[in-house]
This record gives sequence, C-alpha cells and structure tokens, in this order.
Amino acid sequence: MSDLWMDAGLSTADALSVTKKRSRARCRSGGATSTEVADPDRCRVRLQFGESGCGGIVVSGDTDCVIRVARQLSLTRRQAEILVDEAIGLRESLPEVLDTLRDGITTRWQLQVILSRTALVPYESSITPTLDAEIAATLRSKKGSWTRARLRDEVDRLVIRHDPDLVRERRKEALDNRGMWAHTLDDGTAELTGVMAAENVRIAVKAVRVLADSVCKHDGRTVGQRNSDAMFALLTGTVFECLCDREDCTAEVPEPDAVVAAVRSEVVIHVVTDQATLNGAPWIGWVDGHGVISDEHVRDLATRPDATITPVTPARTAPTGVAAETSSSDVVVIFPGSQPSDPYRPTTACADFVRIRDGYCTEPGCEKSAFSCDLDHVTECDRQRPTRGGLTSSENLNAKCRFGHLHKTFGDWVDLQYRDDDGRLVTEYVTPEGYRIRGDAETLEDLFPNLRRIRFEQPAQAPPTPRVITGDDTPPPNNRTAAKHARRRAESARNQRERELREQADEPAPF
Ligand SMILES: [Zn+2]
Ligand SMILES: [Zn+2]
Repeated sequence: MSDLWMDAGLSTADALSVTKKRSRARCRSGGATSTEVADPDRCRVRLQFGESGCGGIVVSGDTDCVIRVARQLSLTRRQAEILVDEAIGLRESLPEVLDTLRDGITTRWQLQVILSRTALVPYESSITPTLDAEIAATLRSKKGSWTRARLRDEVDRLVIRHDPDLVRERRKEALDNRGMWAHTLDDGTAELTGVMAAENVRIAVKAVRVLADSVCKHDGRTVGQRNSDAMFALLTGTVFECLCDREDCTAEVPEPDAVVAAVRSEVVIHVVTDQATLNGAPWIGWVDGHGVISDEHVRDLATRPDATITPVTPARTAPTGVAAETSSSDVVVIFPGSQPSDPYRPTTACADFVRIRDGYCTEPGCEKSAFSCDLDHVTECDRQRPTRGGLTSSENLNAKCRFGHLHKTFGDWVDLQYRDDDGRLVTEYVTPEGYRIRGDAETLEDLFPNLRRIRFEQPAQAPPTPRVITGDDTPPPNNRTAAKHARRRAESARNQRERELREQADEPAPF
C-alpha cells in the first residue's frame, strides 16, 4: 500500500485523512439521504437513488472516496474499494501496525495477513489496542524476514494469548460446520467436498496420493485423473489399477485397505508444544504445515490413539553439561549433537531439535516446512583446520530446503548464525558483494521460549575427521569452501566489531 500511496505523492496517513475527511464532508453536503451514506467509514462504491441530486442519483461520499483513489492510482474501482477498506480497517483497529507501513517496515501484503488474522477479533474488543501495540512492537523490534507463515504464527500467538476463548470457539465453530457436499457439475461430472479437521485431511490426502502414485510410468492419466480414480477406489473399497495396458507393467498397486493401514503409520504430523500445555496449562501448540493452534486443540491431538508424544530432549541420553546463558539467568542444558561414529552427522535428537526450533526453511522468504528440509552446517567444516570449521551443534545447524541448501553450497553467498545481545538466534545472508540480508525475524523459540534452554553440541572427544553431510548431498569441499570460510570469518569479525561499537555507544555519556 505504501508504494501506491507514495506514487500518488501522499503519505498513507495523508491519503487516509484526505479520503476520510472528504468522505465525511461529502456525506454532509450530499444530504445523507440513506442510512448507508450516514456511515462514512463504509467507503463502498454505491450509486443510490435519493430525493435530491442530479436525475435522482446521489453519488455518496463512499463512492467519491473510492473513485478518487482509483483515478489517482490507476486502479479499478474494485481494487480501490479493497484498498480503502483495508486502510480504514487498519486505521480504526490497528493504527500502530499501520504506522509500520508508513515507516517502511512492512508492506501491503503483510498488513493484509495481519488484518485477516485479526479479523475475527470483535470490533471494538478490549484486546484490540493491546494486540495492535504488541504486533507493532514485534515488527519494529524483530528485524528480519517475515514470511506469510511466520507473520501468521506471530499474530495467532498474540491473539491466543489475549483471547484464548475466541480461538477455541472459532475452532469449535469451524469443526461443527464439517460435512460432505456433492455438487452436480456439467457434462456428467460432479464434485465431492468434505470439510473435516485439518489433520484428517492431511492423512486422507496422503492415502489418495500414495495409491494414485503406485501406477507404472506408462499409465497415461494425469496426476489429477489418477488422484480422482484413487479417491473413488479408497472410498468404495474397489480396485485401483495401472492403466498402461502393457504386459511388462511394473506397478505394484496395493489394496485400498493396505494403503490406509500404511498411511496411518506413515503420515507424521509434527506438533510442537510445552509439557505444561499438554498437562492442561493455557498456551499454544504449533502444527507443521498449519501453524499455531490452541491448547485445547493440542490436547485433542495428543489424545488421539495414533499420537506419539516424544520429548524434545533425548529420553535415554544424559545431558553432557549445563551452561549459564550470558544474557539471562536461564540455564542451558546441553546434549550430544553429533553421532560418535560420525561427528559430521547430527544425532536424531539434535536433527529433530533443529527442525523444531526453525519450523520453516531458514532462507528469508521461504516457507517450506523444516521437516522436509535438509540440515545445513551454517559454517561448513574446514578440512584443513577442523578446529576452525563448523561444528555439528544445534547452534551451527539450520534447516534449509533443498534449493536453499544447494544454492548455498554452489553459490557464492555465505550465511551466518549467531546469538545477538539479547540471546536471540539470528541468521544473516551475505551476498557475493558483501550486502547483508537478515534471515527470519522469528523462530519457534519465540513461540516456545523453553527451546532456548536446550542445546546440542559436538562432543569434544569426537575425532576431528568430519565428513560432508549427504542428504543430504553436499559436494566435497573445494577452494570455494575455503574462500567462504575466509569470508565468513571476516563477516563474523565485522559483526563482533559492530557489537562492540554498539556497546560503547550504549554506555552512558561521560557527563
Ligand atoms: Zn503399468
Ligand atoms: Zn528454502
């Protein structure tokens, strides 16, 4: 929105006040022949028949406001209407969030996400001003990339904190509305729709896809056609076959029952929460591929017969140590990060922990689930000088999607991961020219602060003969890797210097 308003030579606030004042003025001068016109905040394009005006048609203040925006910004009336509605919604309910747009911190699509996630908070609810202030404060203080998913999680977390009942009711209402609908389409087809709990849809979709993909490569159907046929076979318990018509068909199509049984054990939906929440405390959970859920939803999932509850810390491994957090009095518990036989490979618990902490791919802008990501050693191992190389520790590992992982490995960018002065985990991406881009503004540590108290570190006694992680297929190190090590060291040193300068600046002035 900012760009659009700026293009028109107006700040957002200016434009808004202009349009609003104008709207109000027009309403008054227009004689307000309709109750709709009397509400200047509803800026909709409306042509209304009134008692006065040219030819019996009154152009309402709403209309004029929208037309003004449309003509100024070369938008269609519909686009202008949406823009004006958004602007008024923000101005009325989330003025501090709106200011982040003016200050160039957020962009229009991000505000749209925030508006949509707060839309169900009742108008003039007592929590709205607090919510507005907290969202704005988070956007201002946590620099870095806000993807749609991270922003959604952040707003949902705050909404749940302030009005957990609202979210519970919303979920109950949504679930109560589940059902199945059949809709007749043209030409002898029909559409089948089922609305159910999101986790059930995940399982059902997986079952359909597993069966649909069991054909051989000579099957002539499209993916959509196969999915449709497989879904029917699963619902009716009938046979699904490969349609290649070849003698040498290699397809091993399972029976529908077998697919369902296999999928039930195969589909893993990762849910992250605190032990206290499982025990009944009011907080939140986070579902991979879905986002933040209420405590009640967490407990419903936990009591499903197919649920497995695993602690984040390894059950049978004793911690190797504890350390005091520099920035707080919290104690950090340390577990072994790498496998004794292969120091470059993280332990299962360490790998799970890093994925849980990151939640999503750590590339700025990427929303791929961390659970389908590779784990990357942010500082690569240094074969020449293993002591200088990257350790297999939770602090040096992060989740990267396959593309991000390959781009890092083969490209000339370097990335850094470190704790800032407040103990927050920060990632940074440095372009080949040395321009630095902040990584994600939040991790799941912001949702579950207890995660900050867990670390996985490479045991000191592990032999210093790191092997490159595969998978997980990173190519062997070469000169490029050596050059990256040098650049990363330079960037880290620069970070350190900047931090020292900041600290000096923070010291009280000498008077
Ligand atoms: Zn076949
Ligand atoms: Zn990615």
